[in-house]
Amino acid sequence: MIQHDVLIVGAGLAGMRAALEVCKDADIGILTKVYPSRSHSGAAQGGIAAALANSEDDSWEEHMFDTIKGGDYLSDQDAVEDYVRAASRVIYELEHFGCVFSRTPEGKIAQRSFGGHSKPRACFAADRTGHAILHALHEQVLKNSKSIKIYSEWYMHQLIVENGECHGVVVTNVRTGELEVIQAKAVVFATGGYGRVYKITTNAFASTADGAIAAFNAGIPLEDSEFIQFHPSGLYRQGILFSEAARGEGGYLLNGKGERFMEKYAASRMELAPRDIVSRAEQSEIDAGRGVNGEACIHLDLRHLGEARIMERLPQIRQLGIDFIGVDCVTDPLPIQPSAHYSMGGIPTDKYGQVVIDAEGTPLKGFFAAGECACVSVHGANRLGTNSLLEATVFGERAGKSALEYVKNVGFGKINEGHEKARVLNSIEEIFQRDGTESYNDIRNEMKDVMMEKCGVFRDGQTLKDCISVIKGLQERCKKGKVTDKGKLFNTEIYEIIELGNMLKMSEIISTAALARQESRGGHFRTDFPKRDDEKFLQHSLVYSGDNDELVLKSKPVVITHYQPKERTY
Ligand SMILES: Cc1cc2nc3c(=O)[nH]c(=O)nc-3n(C[C@H](O)[C@H](O)[C@H](O)COP(=O)(O)OP(=O)(O)OC[C@H]3O[C@@H](n4cnc5c(N)ncnc54)[C@H](O)[C@@H]3O)c2cc1C
Repeated sequence: MIQHDVLIVGAGLAGMRAALEVCKDADIGILTKVYPSRSHSGAAQGGIAAALANSEDDSWEEHMFDTIKGGDYLSDQDAVEDYVRAASRVIYELEHFGCVFSRTPEGKIAQRSFGGHSKPRACFAADRTGHAILHALHEQVLKNSKSIKIYSEWYMHQLIVENGECHGVVVTNVRTGELEVIQAKAVVFATGGYGRVYKITTNAFASTADGAIAAFNAGIPLEDSEFIQFHPSGLYRQGILFSEAARGEGGYLLNGKGERFMEKYAASRMELAPRDIVSRAEQSEIDAGRGVNGEACIHLDLRHLGEARIMERLPQIRQLGIDFIGVDCVTDPLPIQPSAHYSMGGIPTDKYGQVVIDAEGTPLKGFFAAGECACVSVHGANRLGTNSLLEATVFGERAGKSALEYVKNVGFGKINEGHEKARVLNSIEEIFQRDGTESYNDIRNEMKDVMMEKCGVFRDGQTLKDCISVIKGLQERCKKGKVTDKGKLFNTEIYEIIELGNMLKMSEIISTAALARQESRGGHFRTDFPKRDDEKFLQHSLVYSGDNDELVLKSKPVVITHYQPKERTY
């Protein structure tokens, strides 16, 4: 059995930042199913927020207010305050780690505008910000390789929880197919989001809800799962992201009639309204038949920015357009559509990264989470652009600190290795034994279609009920599939089937939580309940696993410190 003081699952920004804290005084393993620098954080483009005030006066208070208003008042305000206060320090620290940020002519860190932020506070490295930060953190992790062991291309299946304490995980080495138990005094999850449940998504192939579902299966509820962010500018039909930075730099959105339609939806902020509002505006134009050439897309027009600015600030976007659809944004507009991008919900934690299992804040000892898989919640019902890289960094650091503090005072718990392995082995064996005719690819595609159509930018009671029923049908059909690769070595097929199971469960949780929330708030818009209802729903949702696979819904109060909910207009 492998042992580490602390085991971190996930090597994106949150996981690696956590590792740099823990390695100061404990032995640590980082487990990741993809090579560390292939984590989705590396795809982040537009920037990371901090009120540095390098181009305009700014303050953490304004950042705090913008974040809370952007989140439609569902954010826990104590967590938001800590987080925005940490932002400037975090940016300078990343710079000292070796992250090369773009500069102003006088040599300060440059900052640009982003949706819902009242001041330009996105620090960026051209439009490859995530890449720059992830590589800087990876270098720091490698520098500390004496105390950090990386398990690259290892897959985490299951958490080991006994008597309210977490003692490790069950994993496989993808290369050999060997199942292992890793015992740890503390486990930190930094497993990212789950945009892959949707047909059109900006997310990487690895964003499949494994961490969220492993926690859920261990009895931990998932918080605010109904809040999925659709990004306004994913490439039409493919979802590949054209960063909001394109609009931050001055890009326009045009409908099929060539109109800057945002004037009708958010006159004061136009293209830089928060993402939920812009995505709904786009979808409304498309649904009214005003898409480009009658199709389900909108134009992102950057032509007026000129080639020099595009090459300085948005080179990757230009290249993506050329490579994927042969469109050069210097001379032609890019076709885009709302694309599933970010999960506001996740594994509930307190503001120190400690996982909590109920409305009273009862901790699950030895278990911590940070980054997109966690719900602190700073983003509430809708995240502002550039606030996620900041979240992963700030709460990655905090979860690392908390885990380190925790392991100083505890020994290794008792675990029954044989029993833990057998549970996972049996479930994998069961998949190998299936001998049906259903195609897992068809099931995956049908899941993505139904989530997009019935649990997307707009939803209502009927579409959500239909969605849940289709998802349950797909879960049944999975039992009648068949694995074609029966080998052990690098059998990616088996992991894809396990991931599909996780995504189906996550889809059921998202749509069930969405059905229960009979109001519209942030990224969750119910056409049958178009108004926000603070009286009934100013609360976080919690979905638990109940008897016979039924989902059990509960709620948890929102922490309000400074800002009472007001109508949200832009
Ligand atoms: C295209 C794109 C652009 C974005 N741009 C921005 C931006 O400009 N600014 C911003 O603030 N936010 C942006 N975001 C959001 C932001 O990048 C993410 O929310 C954030 O990087 C998530 O970091 P993370 O560390 O939580 O997870 P990730 O970086 O997603 O890492 C997840 C890790 O978990 C591991 N993992 C998952 N499941 C398993 C398993 N079963 N076993 C082993 N390992 C596992 C993976 O291997 C990976 O290492 C963007 C997102 C996308 C998709």
